[in-house]
Amino acid sequence: MQPSKEEDDMAPRLARRSPLRPATKLCPRCLTPLTARSKLGGWLVPQDYYCSKCGYAGTVFLEKEKSEPASEPEKV
Ligand SMILES: [Zn+2]
Repeated sequence: MQPSKEEDDMAPRLARRSPLRPATKLCPRCLTPLTARSKLGGWLVPQDYYCSKCGYAGTVFLEKEKSEPASEPEKV
């Protein structure tokens, strides 16, 4: 009897980031909170965003997470 080694590699990898995590999409130009242009965005097509301040429109955005624990000591 030889155990299969493939099972370990076939295990699904869970994403560390939760989709429910509160995050603000920011304009890469002026850091203004972006407005989603399409309701279908993120499902059928990539979500694109619009900045009402500088007129930027696109799928590129900066993400700002709320209450991020910044002081986490690294152990080497
Ligand atoms: Zn902008």
